[in-house]
Amino acid sequence: MPNVSVERIEKDLLALSRFGFNEQDRGVYRQGFSDADMEARRWLMETFTSMDMKTHMDGAGNVFGRMGPDNKPCVMIGSHLDSVPAGGIFDGALGVVAGLECIRTIRENDIHLDYPIEIVATSEEEGRFGGMLGAQAISGKVTLDWLERAQDSSGELLKDAMARHGFDYHEVMHARRSPDELRAFLELHVEQGPVLESKRTSIGIVEGISGVFKWMVRLIGKADHAGTAPMDMRSDAFLGLADFTHEIQRIIDEEGTEKSRITIGFVELKPGFPHTVPGEVDFTIVGRDLDPGVMKALAQACRRVLSSIARKHGLMFEYEQMSWLEPSYCNSKVVDIIKQRAEGRGYSHMLMPSGAGHDAQFLAEITDTGMIFVPSVNGVSHAPDEWTHWDDVERGANLLLDSIVVLATD
Ligand SMILES: [Zn+2]
Repeated sequence: MPNVSVERIEKDLLALSRFGFNEQDRGVYRQGFSDADMEARRWLMETFTSMDMKTHMDGAGNVFGRMGPDNKPCVMIGSHLDSVPAGGIFDGALGVVAGLECIRTIRENDIHLDYPIEIVATSEEEGRFGGMLGAQAISGKVTLDWLERAQDSSGELLKDAMARHGFDYHEVMHARRSPDELRAFLELHVEQGPVLESKRTSIGIVEGISGVFKWMVRLIGKADHAGTAPMDMRSDAFLGLADFTHEIQRIIDEEGTEKSRITIGFVELKPGFPHTVPGEVDFTIVGRDLDPGVMKALAQACRRVLSSIARKHGLMFEYEQMSWLEPSYCNSKVVDIIKQRAEGRGYSHMLMPSGAGHDAQFLAEITDTGMIFVPSVNGVSHAPDEWTHWDDVERGANLLLDSIVVLATD
């Protein structure tokens, strides 16, 4: 198989990074439905046109470029074009520009395909309004009610942000693609974590995207004067939290796998005053695993441990499950194709879960889906110093090329 040109990928990635680039912190600000985001989408449509590809933007802001006949199901490849505030240049954009390079390489080498290739740049993946809007629209998972209510952290409504760019939010409901139109979906993305680099491995083949549960927990004791309440006569809610924090590793060792994660990312002590024993603590527990049974076991263990800690410290314990998102799985045939091609190219590779959410998890609901990770230097992402070495970019794009050629050939 021929090789992609990593120089052209670099050129496109740098061209895209100018949309929303901030000179001060050197971050990319290309949040969904911002001016910079829309400029980047127009750039992409012009690029598709200059490459003689059919292009259109759907009602959700997804941009498509197609090579091949209209009347056959396509192999879709791509990722998102929007960024977090002060994001890096690779997250999302890499999967789109690598697609452009695959098309050039296929044409220059007269590689025969039986099915069309379609590149997609999805909209609002990063969560200004909740995230993965474009991919959810394609897979038919959006509701009109949600579209009417969704707002960003400044209170701007999604439908208003869309209207400023000439979108009618009702059109999002027309962005659904029928499974009959698709043969497969492939996404190349940076890992955004430290695993591949630490294992000196160039390619991560994603088995699936971890499920996530989020709890809001409250431990209630008694707020007391920090001077007059003796140490042995307190119901200090913070002590309960501290004990629980130390139990997390044991819960994972006993109930989890090496793919499990439990994180306490938000804590609020009440009344939150230095001279008062904290009578209440509110905190989140976010748990992840690739197996829903393991997720359940982790959640049950958290509840068990919390209630015994609460008893020990004389606290009341309540919790609310805010969300429970099931894991989603890549297609095993697609995983095998990527694996075989990685072996064919002699690239070091490993199977791994994705701990972060991606567009691929929604595409997996309507077509055979695969995902390729390339290493993130120091595991950094969602920050201006996000980086992936060019030789890893080249390997990832070559593997994307090989895999789509297999998927688009009878
Ligand atoms: Zn991303």
